[in-house]
Amino acid sequence: MTDESDTEVEWPKNEEKFYYDAKEYWSQVPTTVDGMLGGFEKISPTDINGSKAFLRPFLKIGKGKTNTHRALDCGAGIGRITKRLLLPMFDTVDMVELNQKFLDSAKSFIGQDVSRVDRFICSGLQDFTPEAGRYDLIWTQWVLGHLTEDHLVAFFKRCKAGLATDGLIVVKENVSGSEKTEFDELDSSFTRCKESYTTAMRKAGLTILKEERQKGFPKGLYSVFMFALK
Ligand code: SAH
Repeated sequence: MTDESDTEVEWPKNEEKFYYDAKEYWSQVPTTVDGMLGGFEKISPTDINGSKAFLRPFLKIGKGKTNTHRALDCGAGIGRITKRLLLPMFDTVDMVELNQKFLDSAKSFIGQDVSRVDRFICSGLQDFTPEAGRYDLIWTQWVLGHLTEDHLVAFFKRCKAGLATDGLIVVKENVSGSEKTEFDELDSSFTRCKESYTTAMRKAGLTILKEERQKGFPKGLYSVFMFALK
């Protein structure tokens, strides 16, 4: 057959397997920052500093409108972002994460400030609904590739409903250089192109307030984009 669809990227045909494989993959990953970043622990400070600079102008503490009472860390892992970005700026943080073992290690990884983590929610984002109106900030980073297209749009919609007044969603994800979405069989995830994300955001009724490419990452890694949404 010469049908083009035969030569395109192998899309996972079975949704159950897509989610199962990802869960299996992450269950083998060590509960360390290096594990969270696929062996790139060294990029963490640059990542966190870039996130702080991107986020701050939206917050009241940076002359913006968004309160800093409560944030949600999505696909939180051991709490790298909760510890280094969110707890220093927000009164309380909730974490949602697929693997219980990462949530368990979050307690020792975060240290004393873990007392300000309110909810540890063990769930896939595809099955999770943020409590309506609860969050000033919903942060999702390096996890949305683990959702199917339909689940991505639906998740964005639920996040929108989870925002408090003047609340903000931030998405920080790898984007593929080509205009195509790529599939990684190793961890069972998609690397979407930028347009694929912006299309899903619009479909969910979100407005893009700002987008920016993270600078200072080593060459050879995917481009990483941050989007601020409401
Ligand atoms: N966002 C964190 C962790 C990135 S690693 C950070 O930047 O440090 C990706 C995390 O997403 C892992 O902890 C993995 O267990 C989790 N994950 C994978 N699929 C998920 C899903 N469907 N729902 C929620 N979390 C998921």
